[in-house]
Amino acid sequence: MSKIDDLAIRRIIETANIVDVVGAFIPLKQKGPRYLGLCPFHEDHNIGSFIVYPRGNCYRCFACEAKGDSIKFLQEHCNMDFIGAIRWLGQHYGIPVDDVPVDYTPPVKKEPEPLPMLTLPIDIVLRRRNLEHDTFALWLYSLPWNGVQRDRIRKTLDEYLVGHSTIKQNGQQHDFTIFWQIDDKQRVRTGKMMKYRCDGHRMKKGDTPWTQDWVHAILFRDENLTQFDPDKMEMRQCLFGQHLLNAWQNATINIVESEKTALIMDIAYGNRYENIWMACGGLSNISRDKLKPLMDLGRRIQLFPDKDGIKAWREKATELKYDKLGFNTEFIDTYWKPEDGPKADVADVVLRMIRDNNT
Ligand SMILES: [Zn+2]
Repeated sequence: MSKIDDLAIRRIIETANIVDVVGAFIPLKQKGPRYLGLCPFHEDHNIGSFIVYPRGNCYRCFACEAKGDSIKFLQEHCNMDFIGAIRWLGQHYGIPVDDVPVDYTPPVKKEPEPLPMLTLPIDIVLRRRNLEHDTFALWLYSLPWNGVQRDRIRKTLDEYLVGHSTIKQNGQQHDFTIFWQIDDKQRVRTGKMMKYRCDGHRMKKGDTPWTQDWVHAILFRDENLTQFDPDKMEMRQCLFGQHLLNAWQNATINIVESEKTALIMDIAYGNRYENIWMACGGLSNISRDKLKPLMDLGRRIQLFPDKDGIKAWREKATELKYDKLGFNTEFIDTYWKPEDGPKADVADVVLRMIRDNNT
């Protein structure tokens, strides 16, 4: 087999234009310097999350975090391998590549320099503190708490700075509960926006076409807000509740999956001198990066996995090799009942206990 030189491959990579490539599979609409379309990597019903950037020659979805260049798009969207993607591009741009040896290894790409971190003005948080009509907050107050006063719930919602935002779009009103991610240096990283039903469960696709979003993604999408340019800065997540870290220097940090669980545990068991509840935002979101600020300060950490997350988090805990990291399944093992279901999260168990206490 004659070997085609790397030059042809490099030429193809340099020629590949992200708008061409993505546009060959998905209708794109130009908006200012960017192109928008429905994201092919998650069930997307609203244009606005998936953005193609001609300047950076890349795409990014702010809903599912899919991102990459032309090759990555062909690999992920069309299940091609690297060679397949090169052949496809070669054909598309009329560059012959029939002889690409199958054992070609792409050169290791240098990671691009990280962009400066996006920090949002605290004002954006403080202006969204009215929870009067927030479905999640109203549900929280309505639970049959035993001996927990309304003031305690208000204190938790206040201290975690839970927010609310109403957005009107195409004649429809969208109400989001906002869980801000503010780090221990009080820098606002972003806010996770979710919609809740009256029963405290999150809205699903069947309930509304727009189930969740991120504050930074909305700012990045807005052409008029030139100070928030995703080509110039990037969002880095932190733990929900991390801003409380320094106020209680000796407290153990108890980490759960969801923001809702962190709030419920804080209301039910919160004693900040002993423990601060924080949420990482999802089963796969426990990482060295996320825990680093806590580890650097030598803080004690305890992971509280949900019923279906015990195995994954145990593996993660072993991998992290941090001697002040504990792993607590005692809670879920002691109190979990089959009626809670195999996927029960810590909060489901606590809520069932609260209900049991009242019947
Ligand atoms: Zn997506």
